[in-house]
Amino acid sequence: MGVLALQGAFAEHLAALEKLGAEARPVRLLADLPGLEGLIIPGGESTTMARLLAALELYDQVKGLARDGMPMWGTCAGLILLAKNAIGLREANLGVMDVAVRRNAYGRQVDSFEADLEVPALGPPPFRAVFIRSPRIEAVGAGVEVLACRPGGEPVAVRQGQLLGTTFHPELTPDLRFHQLFLRQGKKRAARAKGKGQPEPRGRHDR
Ligand code: GLN
Repeated sequence: MGVLALQGAFAEHLAALEKLGAEARPVRLLADLPGLEGLIIPGGESTTMARLLAALELYDQVKGLARDGMPMWGTCAGLILLAKNAIGLREANLGVMDVAVRRNAYGRQVDSFEADLEVPALGPPPFRAVFIRSPRIEAVGAGVEVLACRPGGEPVAVRQGQLLGTTFHPELTPDLRFHQLFLRQGKKRAARAKGKGQPEPRGRHDR
């Protein structure tokens, strides 16, 4: 599993993956991409990350991998990078997930808060979510599944095929269930790709 490590909360994601026994590595260069089962795009500052993606010539490759079906999970600023419509971001983003998000939409006075989320895909107990100057998901496309909403409010965790997005930071709390969910997606896809790429099993008498 790769964690985009240009800026932001990448170390915490790497630590969470390691706690789960997953093989994980930071991604900073094109050479770090081959062989990954998935990629986490962490929280941080979306403008800076978008600029670095372009400056380091990672932009086209990462976008191509997302389009080819690589599991990717954007947390907070990471989701801003994945969104097709990132309102308030002036840089080009990856634009692969059919959601509209507005940067810094919760305003300064409430720019950080926590909430207990019911997440049916994870089961009980509720997931304690930490929001730090997070974006707000304002619209989701037809193919996007809402995994969790803020109590009485808008979606905060979404999934579209192999793409996962959370406006909060699961890497900052000890609950590793979102990381487990994402790892399972990566494993499923890797198994499918392996099945496709291998020749038919040979019969017992084949030489
Ligand atoms: N406010 C940040 C941005 O717009 C996102 C905050 C975060 O990732 N915690 O890029």
